[in-house]
Amino acid sequence: MLVEREPYCLEAAEKQPLLLAELNGLTKHHQQHCQPYQQLLAAQWPAFVAAKQTEQLPYLAVRLFKQLKLQSVPDADVFKVLYSSGTTGTQSRIVLDSATAAMQSKILVKIMQHWLGKARLPMLIIDHPGVIKDRSNFSARGAGIQGLSFMGRNHCYALNDDMSINFEAVEQFCQQFGDGPVFVFGFTFMVWQFFIQELQRQNKTILLPQALLLHSGGWKKLQDQAVDNTTFKQQVLAQTGISKVHNFYGMVEQVGAIFVECEQGHLHCPSYADVLVRKPGNWQTAAVGEEGVLQLLSTLPRSYPGHSLLSEDRAVLLGEDNCPCGRMGKYFHILGRLPQAEARGCSDTFSSGAAV
Ligand SMILES: [Zn+2]
Repeated sequence: MLVEREPYCLEAAEKQPLLLAELNGLTKHHQQHCQPYQQLLAAQWPAFVAAKQTEQLPYLAVRLFKQLKLQSVPDADVFKVLYSSGTTGTQSRIVLDSATAAMQSKILVKIMQHWLGKARLPMLIIDHPGVIKDRSNFSARGAGIQGLSFMGRNHCYALNDDMSINFEAVEQFCQQFGDGPVFVFGFTFMVWQFFIQELQRQNKTILLPQALLLHSGGWKKLQDQAVDNTTFKQQVLAQTGISKVHNFYGMVEQVGAIFVECEQGHLHCPSYADVLVRKPGNWQTAAVGEEGVLQLLSTLPRSYPGHSLLSEDRAVLLGEDNCPCGRMGKYFHILGRLPQAEARGCSDTFSSGAAV
């Protein structure tokens, strides 16, 4: 089983056959346990029996999780339901049983420990404490913070409920832990808008030279402000002294097997997940360096058919097993969201014929 392996140690020759076998197994499992999935496959891939390469695996448009009840466990076994952060319209609904939820946490920890080390570090959270208390708003942000908070200790929230910086708390945290390694986490936009820019505006700096900042979430809002990854990192260093800054990419539809940015600025596939890039229109797989739509493969989803999903993100595959950082696996860049109309189009392509 891939879940027993270390996150970045498998070369393609070893990984791909294992991955293919597990994903073929999951496709069969979901066909047998999720009727809408079975109908989708019958409509879109009527001749499908088993894939000989991951490129041949059936995939669902991620948007279908907003439209259909896609679960492969009886209601009685539902342990937790995750909702996407979607600001408009209906949210994705991801159904977890206890085994899938436990596996997601286990894998998230495994990946995080690769970057953070095994010891729990003092943790500065760039958000306000209300974000995990407000149940009605308990979506991706709250769940993400809660999911990662057990990787740290002595948690400190850097913001007040009105999004202003809680300087008293932050200064105390820096005084107490600033000399050693600490874990800083926040959503990209929150870190930028309410922390880094605010420090800059107030002409203040903090000093956490041994910290590692992990941040997640779309770049869209930042790109609108013409802030790229390099600018983001430079400004974080200037205001906080943090030089180790890693973005990570993941979707609520595939929690656990996240893609973390290495020192080269590349997002890396862990052993438990993989990516393909497809060209809109003919949906053939794109070559290295060619732009397209990102397809995500994960061996974790058993309680819902989310093991092979076509995202709504544009991406480019950069290589496999040969990143200068030394980690194995495919690595890629996210280029941004698909325009809404195009995203709807590719969802329609893959839902026609299904009982909605
Ligand atoms: Zn790398």
